[in-house]
Amino acid sequence: MPVEIMSDLPRQNCVTRFAPSPNGPLHLGHALSAFMNADMARENQGRFLLRIEDIDQTRCTPQFEQDIYDDLSWLGLTWEQPVRRQSQHFDDYRLALEKLVAMDLAYPAFLTRGEVKAIVKASEAGGTPWPRDPDGGALYPDSDKQRSSAERQSRLEANALFAWRLNMKNAIAQLDEPLFWDEFGSGQHQTIKADPAQWGDVVLSRSDAPSSYHLSVVVDDALQGITDVVRGMDLYHATAIHRLLQQLLSLPAPRYHHHRLILGNDGRKLSKSQGSTGLATLRAAGKTPSDIHRLVGL
Ligand code: GLU
Repeated sequence: MPVEIMSDLPRQNCVTRFAPSPNGPLHLGHALSAFMNADMARENQGRFLLRIEDIDQTRCTPQFEQDIYDDLSWLGLTWEQPVRRQSQHFDDYRLALEKLVAMDLAYPAFLTRGEVKAIVKASEAGGTPWPRDPDGGALYPDSDKQRSSAERQSRLEANALFAWRLNMKNAIAQLDEPLFWDEFGSGQHQTIKADPAQWGDVVLSRSDAPSSYHLSVVVDDALQGITDVVRGMDLYHATAIHRLLQQLLSLPAPRYHHHRLILGNDGRKLSKSQGSTGLATLRAAGKTPSDIHRLVGL
């Protein structure tokens, strides 16, 4: 694996982004990510952007969005205006989805969560473990891909709810060469082989959300000219999906810096419901922005 020293890399004029979802209060893990993005931009005469990832309109609220602005301002961060809010750019994601559909790499997936669960349970009851993705989620069954086009058509005409899913096998078959990404999270340059197959047929859009996280993140990183994606290790394996979508959609690949996660007392990754590590809670308890720097280990 080729290894280079980070300081040798051209990072002048980099463009970084902090991309939270307004579906809960920000915690120390978000502060670490936001600081690291802002620091990289400042140290390299670059630009620091804030992006609001609010495609899931059932969980995101204007109050949580306002809280993000308040928390980040309190931390002393500044970012460029206007802020890109994903809910205002559904057309961009739709165009990308249409490309994948036109390439015959996406298909309508009709199974409900409950139906998928039942299929997995039945298979596992028979002693066959169901394949799972790196986050432990069950891979989507093949049944929708096996439907005849007449059956697919009649379901669509009956207005059945469906999600668009990527046909992972066919998508990978399109590639001329193996996929890699440039990773710098360890402080050294590593070339990582991307293995998107382990995620199966990922969702591209749902009946209640016109785009998925994976699709909108690659479209936005390209449209915003992001050169360096600085985010938590929890998204490390998802980078394989992002690299595949970038390749299929002819989008540039940024450099990736996956940073350590801040763990709670239980040794698990912080969640938005853990109030004690919430930035607003810490602020109300009298902590200062320099305390937050110290608490996140910077
Ligand atoms: N919106 C994602 C989150 O809140 C982060 C996406 C990214 O940095 O790629 O976890």
